[in-house]
Amino acid sequence: MNDKDSRVVVITGGSKGIGRAVALAFAREKAKIIILHYDPDEKASQETLKLLAERGIEAESHKIDVSRKEQVDSLFSELIDRHGRVDVLVNNAGITRDAFFMRMTEEQWDTVLQVNLKSVFNCTQAVIRSMMKNRQGHIVNVSSVVGQIGNIGQANYAASKAGVMGLTKSVAREVASRGIHVNAVAPGFIETDMTAVLPEKVKEGFLAQIPFGRMGTAEEVAEVVYWLCSDGASYLTGQVIHVNGGMFM
Ligand code: NAP
Repeated sequence: MNDKDSRVVVITGGSKGIGRAVALAFAREKAKIIILHYDPDEKASQETLKLLAERGIEAESHKIDVSRKEQVDSLFSELIDRHGRVDVLVNNAGITRDAFFMRMTEEQWDTVLQVNLKSVFNCTQAVIRSMMKNRQGHIVNVSSVVGQIGNIGQANYAASKAGVMGLTKSVAREVASRGIHVNAVAPGFIETDMTAVLPEKVKEGFLAQIPFGRMGTAEEVAEVVYWLCSDGASYLTGQVIHVNGGMFM
């Protein structure tokens, strides 16, 4: 594959955790990797770029709030102009703002829905026209087991991740005839900064529900994302692949 043929891969939330592992998974095929992140402290995104550089990949990172449509439209239009296309979009950025439903504030609800669900709308709309024109593309949305089974204290997060599943299936139906694959992964309980902050008691509660008896790694999720974007998954679209050690079957 020469440089012109390298896939152009955009990963939201690519600075750390699952997003970073996805970026490193795509490094094996010498893809052009573009990571989007939010924190003005660029330490994590710079670390991802360094790890990619060590693998011979010249990647780029952009600080952007993916929940803001105007920021997304402007960045993606610049990326598509410069790179000619986007072949793979991984909608991975996500946050939690947990609270018991009775006490959940409107702000906690809105922020989580904006970052976890509206961002998927924003980024997917920003690439879909170009993918349709090219009659190919892969979109992988990162949902969660919580979108399937719910979780105490996470009504906002569960609603956003269930929304991601519904969006995935609807868009998949709309664009399949243009050769575009739209799938989701629903990770279970994965070792990242997002789960590092959970109290020990909560972690123990999750572990008790996992037949494999351990948390998953970001790499174990990234491998599935990568596979969904490969020829091996050529007949898959509109699927939600659960990567959860058996927590939900
Ligand atoms: P993480 O380590 O906290 O990483 C989250 C990523 O999202 C970071 O790169 C962060 O960028 C980015 N981000 C947050 N808000 C953003 C915004 N408004 N605009 C752009 N980027 C933003 O979390 P993770 O565990 O890897 O989670 C990745 C995805 O997997 C999320 O969608 C999460 O809901 C989902 N998930 C995780 C688990 C788990 O157990 N960890 C389970 C199921 C699903 P900055 O660092 O620059 O802020």
